[in-house]
Amino acid sequence: MHDWNEVLAGEAMERGPVMLNWHDVAHAGATADTGFNVVIHEFVHKIDLRDGAPDGCPPLPSREARRRWLAVLQAQYAHFREQVIKAERFGEPAPWLDDYGATAIDEFFAVACEAYFVNRERFTREFPPLTVLFDGFYLPAA
Ligand SMILES: [Zn+2]
Repeated sequence: MHDWNEVLAGEAMERGPVMLNWHDVAHAGATADTGFNVVIHEFVHKIDLRDGAPDGCPPLPSREARRRWLAVLQAQYAHFREQVIKAERFGEPAPWLDDYGATAIDEFFAVACEAYFVNRERFTREFPPLTVLFDGFYLPAA
C-alpha cells in the first residue's frame, strides 16, 4: 500500500499525464477576469516537478538562479499568506489572487502563473516582482 501510494504521487505526477476536469477546462475562458485557469495551473505543476520537487521552482540553469528565484517567490508568498490570514481573521479585504495559493508554495506558484497568463495587467499591479521573475523564465531574452 505504501509503495503504491509513492508511485502514484511520484511517478504519476512527475512523468504521468496531466489530469484535467473537463468542467473547469470548458469554463476556463469565462473565469479569465478572476485570473483562474486550471489548464495553466496543472501544467505549471508539471514544470515545477521537472527538477524533482514541488517547491515552486522550475528547472533553472544554476543554483544561484534557483536561490534568487526562491527568494523572490518566498517573499511574495509570505506577503500573500499574510493578506489571506488578515482577510480570514480580521475581515480585511480578500486578496485578488485565489486564496488556494496560500496553502503551499507550489500552489502559490501555480495560482500566480494562472493569473500572470490570464490577467497580466492586474497581476502586475498586485505582484510586480513576480511579473519580472516570470518574464525572465517564460519570455527569455532573444
Ligand atoms: Zn495545484
